[in-house]
Amino acid sequence: MRKIRTAVIQAGGKGTRLIELTKDEIPKPLIKIAGKSILEWQIENLKRYGVEKIIIIVGYLGYEIKRCFGDGEKLGVSIEYIEESNPLGSGGSLYFLKEKNIGDDFILIYGDVMFNINWNRMEDFHIQSKAYATLLVHPNTHPFDSDLVALNSKSQVENFLLKGQKRERWYKNCVNAGVYILSKKIVFEMGKLCKLDLEKDILIKYAGKGVLYGYYTTEYVKDAGTVKRFYEVEKAFLNNIPEKRNLANKQKCIFLDRDGTLNVYKGLLADEEEFELEEGTIQALKAINQSEYLAIVVTNQPVVARGMCELEDVEKIHRKMTTLLGNEGVYLDDIIFCPHHPDKGYAEENVKFKIDCECRKPKTGMIDSMVSKYNIDVKQSYMIGDTTVDIQTGINAGLTTVLVHTGEAGQDKRYDISADKQSKNLLEAVKMLLV
Ligand SMILES: [Mg+2]
Ligand SMILES: [Zn+2]
Repeated sequence: MRKIRTAVIQAGGKGTRLIELTKDEIPKPLIKIAGKSILEWQIENLKRYGVEKIIIIVGYLGYEIKRCFGDGEKLGVSIEYIEESNPLGSGGSLYFLKEKNIGDDFILIYGDVMFNINWNRMEDFHIQSKAYATLLVHPNTHPFDSDLVALNSKSQVENFLLKGQKRERWYKNCVNAGVYILSKKIVFEMGKLCKLDLEKDILIKYAGKGVLYGYYTTEYVKDAGTVKRFYEVEKAFLNNIPEKRNLANKQKCIFLDRDGTLNVYKGLLADEEEFELEEGTIQALKAINQSEYLAIVVTNQPVVARGMCELEDVEKIHRKMTTLLGNEGVYLDDIIFCPHHPDKGYAEENVKFKIDCECRKPKTGMIDSMVSKYNIDVKQSYMIGDTTVDIQTGINAGLTTVLVHTGEAGQDKRYDISADKQSKNLLEAVKMLLV
């Protein structure tokens, strides 16, 4: 029996940016996407995970929502409404929940976010971490125009980097998706009824205190808040991509090598200034992002073990990579690297990382961990890389392999093997795989 049975949906917004779709006659959550309103899609996904009590906070044109859904009987759930006579921001109206039976923890979502997620996983994460609040975080196609979250190694929220705030030149594409599990403690700690922003006025108080967590997922979550995004979301739903990306289902993945595959090969790379994307990488990732496949980087970075740089420098290179990609509307679902190297006895080396690990390619440790984290089916997944080490890794892991003729173009000749497929570059490889 799951513990979380209640979801609160913030449906009071005006939806000004979608006026050409709403014609100002319906509120944003009633816009139809692939045949159903946003609210219907949301409630359907929640109900599948036993969340059958829905509280909708209505404001602008709220009577249209009530007219559509009534007490929820037609959808097989029970619906209650909270009426906001004056706009109270994204957080102020939560005050009314003090009088509602919401359980110890409840789900909170915005009425313009389209998603298809496995709530059991997020609930387990929330309960195990004993969080006051869990925010669903992920990389998205417009991090420059989104609220970012900085997490520490325990997935605790250290701080918020809100849109419009000045940020570092290179940053991690880790976006707050507008999907939460909150403890009722947050509601009971609210002082008085007034206009409040959920992030800026409420959640930020808990940041850096070890009680706010980020739940990272590759599942489909996207706000349909602009006309352009609305059409992207509709296309994805018509192609059933959100359901396929629900982690309850086996995932398909394209594992990608980094140097010489995604970015120009320059030998060992220790300085982010040297990092430069390969031609076609943006278009290749765009195609993967719009498909049912995950895009995950698996890379050996012995630069750390060799003492050429610190772990933080590798992270910095990855922040540059995700910023460059994010600026062009594409992202990687995850990045994993091996900082180790087996052979000891060199000057300058960092002995701590000089180990014969299980993650250095062609061993499969990195792929194995991603396979279990994201429920990946290796038989339906690929490894794309520019060296025989990448191809040997793919073979060891049971993946179909593609050698690209960029970077080292297979000339490392470490293993006497041939790839299942060959391709001029990443873009051509992805086009071939996604036909
Ligand atoms: Mg390479
Ligand atoms: Zn390793």
